[in-house]
Parts: sequence; C-alpha cells; structure tokens
Amino acid sequence: MTTTLRWAAIVLLALLTVGSCANSPPTTLDESLELIRERALRSHVRWLADDDRAGRLPGDPGYDQAARYVAEQFARMGLEPAGADGWYQTVPLRAFRTVEDAATFVIHADDGDLGFTYRDDFAVVPDPVDTQDRVRAEVVYVGYGVHAPELGYSDYEGIDVEGKIIAAYSGAPERFENLQRAYYSSSLTKRREAVSRGAIGTITLRSRKAEQQSPWNEASKRIGIRPAMTWIREDGDPARHFPSLRAGASLSPATAEALMQGAAVSYEDTLTAMESGDVRSTPLGVEVTIAGKSEHRSLESPNVIGVVRGSDPGLAHEYVVYTAHLDHLGTREVDGEKRIFNGAYDNAMGIALMLETARIFAALPPRRSVLFIALTGEERGLLGSDYFVNNPVVPVESIVANINLDMPLFLYPVADLVAFGSENSTLQPVAVSAATAEGFVFSADPMPEETRFVRSDQYSFVRAGVPAIYLVAGFRSTDDDIDGESLYRAFLDHHYHEASDNLSQPVHWDSALRFARAHARIGYAVASQEDRPEWNEGSFLGSRFATP
Ligand SMILES: [Zn+2]
Repeated sequence: MTTTLRWAAIVLLALLTVGSCANSPPTTLDESLELIRERALRSHVRWLADDDRAGRLPGDPGYDQAARYVAEQFARMGLEPAGADGWYQTVPLRAFRTVEDAATFVIHADDGDLGFTYRDDFAVVPDPVDTQDRVRAEVVYVGYGVHAPELGYSDYEGIDVEGKIIAAYSGAPERFENLQRAYYSSSLTKRREAVSRGAIGTITLRSRKAEQQSPWNEASKRIGIRPAMTWIREDGDPARHFPSLRAGASLSPATAEALMQGAAVSYEDTLTAMESGDVRSTPLGVEVTIAGKSEHRSLESPNVIGVVRGSDPGLAHEYVVYTAHLDHLGTREVDGEKRIFNGAYDNAMGIALMLETARIFAALPPRRSVLFIALTGEERGLLGSDYFVNNPVVPVESIVANINLDMPLFLYPVADLVAFGSENSTLQPVAVSAATAEGFVFSADPMPEETRFVRSDQYSFVRAGVPAIYLVAGFRSTDDDIDGESLYRAFLDHHYHEASDNLSQPVHWDSALRFARAHARIGYAVASQEDRPEWNEGSFLGSRFATP
C-alpha cells in the first residue's frame, strides 16, 4: 500500500467512524428520538418498582433512594440541577391522623344526648395543627355546599351559616359539566366557601350513589389506615388549612338519618331532592358536638428537578415543565400480611418515560428551556406539585405548559393516545400531531365522568394558570382480538392502588416506546414554537385560573 493510499484509507475509516459513532450528537429531533431505548425503560421500571424501594412512601428510605436514582440519571444525561438544593427541592411535610378512641360525635336532641361509635357510625377529620378539636354548634343542611352563581346555582341562597356547622353531601349537581362538577366537588372549593360565610365546622353526608359504589360498612374499615399529609409553609402553617373550621366529621347513612330526625326535611327528602337538583338548604334545629384528637409527625421529602437550557437566547427564559410523581403508597398490612405497594404502573412507568424524554432534550435542546420534575406526595394530595407552584424555582409566569404522566398503561398493543385536559387549550393540536407522527390515533377522553384531569399533578399547574395536559394510552388495541377497554377497566378495578400493581403486570413495551417518543414530541414542539400555548376561549379552567 502506497503512502497516499494508506492516508486515503485512514481518512475514509475516520469518516465512517464519525458517521456511525453512537456518541455524535443528534442534529434533528428524529435522530434524537432514536436515543430512547426499550431496555432503558425496562430497567428504570424494574429498579423503581423493586421491593427494595418499599413502595416509595414520602419520608421513607425507599423514596429517598428513588429520588437519588432520578438525580443520577439526570446527571448522566447531562441535565443541570435546578432544585433549591442541587437536584432536590425539599418539601416540608406533616403527617397527621385521628386518635381513634378520643373521637366523639354527639347529637344534642330535645329528649337527651345521642352518642355514636367511631368508625361504625362516624369518622372525624384529623387536624394538621391542633392536637385537640372540639366544637358544639347548630347544624345547617346546605345540599352540596356549592355556590356557583355563574351556573345559576347556590346552596347558600338565603341561608345563614355564621357560627354554624354545615352538613353537606359530597359531590356537586349532576347537571354541571364534568370539569365544573369536579371543581365544585373539591373539598378545597367547599371549605373555602364555608369559611367565607363564617361556618365553624363541617359534616359530610353520603349520597345514594356514593353508598352504592362503596358502602359505609366497607369504606369505614379503611378510614385512617394511612395518615393524611400536608405541606408546611414558610411561616410554619400548613397549606390549604382553614383554622376557623374547628372540627369536621363524616356520617354513616344511619347517623345522618338520626341527625335529621325531627328536622324540616328528612334524610330521604334530602337524598331525593339532591338527585333531582333541588336545593333544600335549611337549619336542622339541632346542635351537635364533634371532638377528636390528632397526632402529628414532621417529615421531609424532595421533588427532584433537572433543567435543559433552551438554545434560543430570546426564549430560554421560558419553560416547558415535564412532571411525573415518584411516590407511591409504601407498605401496609393486608389480611395480616405486610404487603409492598410497588406502584409499577403508578408511577414507576411514568418516571421511566419522563427520564427517557429528558435524554432526548439533553441531546438536542429546543429553543425554550425544559424542566423535568419527579414529584413527591402526589398520592397524599398532589403535595409536591402544589408545593412547587407555590415555591417555584423559576417564575410561574415563565412556565408555558405542563405535560404530566401518571400511570400510563400499556396492557395491550396500544392504538390510541388520550391527552386529558387538552380540549381546554392550544396544546390539543400539538398532541394530535405528535400522536399521529408515532402511528397512534388521537382519541377524546373515553371516561370524562372520571375527571382524571383534576386528579393528578397537572391540576396544580392548572390552578396556577398554566395550560397543561396529562397523557395516557387510550382504550383501543391494534389487535382486533384484544378488547383494550375491558383490560384497562379490569386494571382500574383490581390493580389500581393495590399491591398487585407490581412487576408481574404485563407491559407491551413497543407501545411504551412509541408513547415515550410521542410524549417527547409534544414538549419539543411546544418548546420550539414561536408562541406560548393558550387557554381556549371560554374554557372553564382558563377563565377561572388564567393569569390576566
Ligand atoms: Zn399515580
């Protein structure tokens, strides 16, 4: 071989090496998407849902191990730490629960006091501040406890509850649209309304529907098996706490009937009136005492936050935020045996998909910056996300969109994707084209009555005015012989929040892989386009929460 030929060969070899080198950075989104590997998804899920993580309960070592895992993955992929403390944003939490034998509910009737038994007849609401609660006052029945003048509805019309205990059914009128009903059903909305009217205590009643779905005798067995939790503000007070509500109780149907004995309306009347949308609010003409003791425990648990800096100096100060909750339910005794709630789908799978999405962005940053957040305390009431939007590491106004993952199921070869909440904003067309690009059909929410859009972390962002979506696989299978919907519903009925949501669940990994790619495409498009996403005209959530 002559020198010239040898050099030619070396140059050629060098060119071939560069062309095929796995480490050369991608220059297009399509190249970047090739970095997502099924093997990596599998190994994240296996590690996070392993028995050694013990169900990733906030405050427990298993959760902290999982948080370190996410931080290490972020670091390896080349993200920058974006927490208040390196990768972490520590969330101060308080766990609180009722001391059972100190709970009291008494009806002070004309012919004497009527006492009741905790759990059989009533439950009390644990208090995150006071270790002792006691309130005695008159009771006013207020339907659902909903005041929605813009929908032509109020349970408080002409009713005075100042210094009174209100008694209200859970839920909101059937005629409300799903999102409106979800908003007005939330205990936060109801407590805020009650407090603004001077109420000092709450009694929650059960509708026939609630009783059919989960009879008191069954539901009451689960009261207090896990403590309630809240996050603690800088001033030391718990978030979303209303000190003027001095005590609260929920009643079995039999106890509710006793409460309304001799009142202007009977328990049956109120049940029927409520179902037909009639308001029958009225003072019950009786006093009750609600009392209880609560025990408290302080703990801390981190959100894990990484950032990919945007490539466009004009847009890099704006952020797309990807989220998935890292926590699950820990362990608990079931039939005398300690069981681990591994949360393989809920939400080891969501974290795995978010991690592989982060890999894409780190390899090829879009114009806007992108935050990736593994959130704590979702299962205890969206705590990590609520903390984040109230203590954001970047200005909330600079967050243009939130894309959340929670329990994405791949139980069969998936044909369609659903983006909960997308109909509220300009995120929908973006989600449609991302789904289509990966060979999925884009479907509307197949169970809008479940209002899943308000039941996971994206709702914290929505409440802060940020357009958001929550991406899941739809009901349709690509295989005509597989009924996707029945498999999906069977999972919800038998494995959701059960110890069996573990590594033995089937996963159609090719669907998961394509889902991850579609998930990345959505954020990439939002982070690259000139305009920020906007709430659609007339959207209920946009009109309620958007910052002007
Ligand atoms: Zn979840």
